[in-house]
Amino acid sequence: MFDRFTSPLGQPYLAAIEEIPLYHYLPGGSVLVLEIPGCPFRCSYCDRLPLARSREWSPYDPERIGIVLDKLSHESGFIGVSWDGGEPSLHWDNVVECSRAVHQAGHRVIVTTNGGLAADVLRGSRDTVDALLVRFKGFDEETYRALGSPEGILENSRTLVETSLSLGIHVELMLDVAADTASHMREFSSMISWVAHDLRRSVPVHLRAIAPEHGFAIRHGPVMPFLENLVESARKQHVGFVYLSNCHGHFFNNTLCPNCYSVLIDRNAYPLDLSFVTDGKCGHCGIDLGLKLNKEIG
Ligand code: SF4
Repeated sequence: MFDRFTSPLGQPYLAAIEEIPLYHYLPGGSVLVLEIPGCPFRCSYCDRLPLARSREWSPYDPERIGIVLDKLSHESGFIGVSWDGGEPSLHWDNVVECSRAVHQAGHRVIVTTNGGLAADVLRGSRDTVDALLVRFKGFDEETYRALGSPEGILENSRTLVETSLSLGIHVELMLDVAADTASHMREFSSMISWVAHDLRRSVPVHLRAIAPEHGFAIRHGPVMPFLENLVESARKQHVGFVYLSNCHGHFFNNTLCPNCYSVLIDRNAYPLDLSFVTDGKCGHCGIDLGLKLNKEIG
């Protein structure tokens, strides 16, 4: 079906929304992932080098996307399109144009960004994005500089998150953890404090443990007790939704109620059992989780 149109770097593919990862937005659903080449960063641990360094680009065709969506809309739990990369903001006009077709077909638009998407650009294309995953490389300007980032990307990412929440866009955050050092702990704590005091405690944070398979520059990644300690320390600040998203099978990928600690979504069991979440609230104690359900699935 997907060979009806081509992406510059390969075929678009279908993925579970948990693979993006988004855990609190229409869980159990699936998305068509469309990748945009190029990236402003030079991470030593990049595991997507051909995509990140590519200069090839031919725009996606909204009409062809419409045809594919027409077919996918018959699949149970299909949500829409997820723009990934690389960095989608590098070809934002094409993303906006194609996303219009996605909305016209009655589906949702998800965007992941490494921080290249500016808040003003998002405001200028207000109805384009339904859900956003903002990936942080760290939470210190020095970490960004070391990755060859253009100046101001960290500040830009923070403003983007705050603006998106104020516009009613669903937002989840991701943080790369490349080592188990005191400075990584410090950056994580600064990020959690920002979530707790300036955002909402219900905003999910995904930790991406950088491992040797992400590149030869990493000899060993952070050890598991270090990562588990980060999750526990966030809970002490009442930030209840910190996930070890690329540590598959780990208990800390489950959604626990931050109030009564019941396991609400067990991510080791597919299809997901969503019966303990009622209208985005904990089915046991009733507190609002800020979790959006797909009525068709939940
Ligand atoms: S931000 Fe992601 S895609 Fe870009 S260089 Fe770093 S790891 Fe690679």
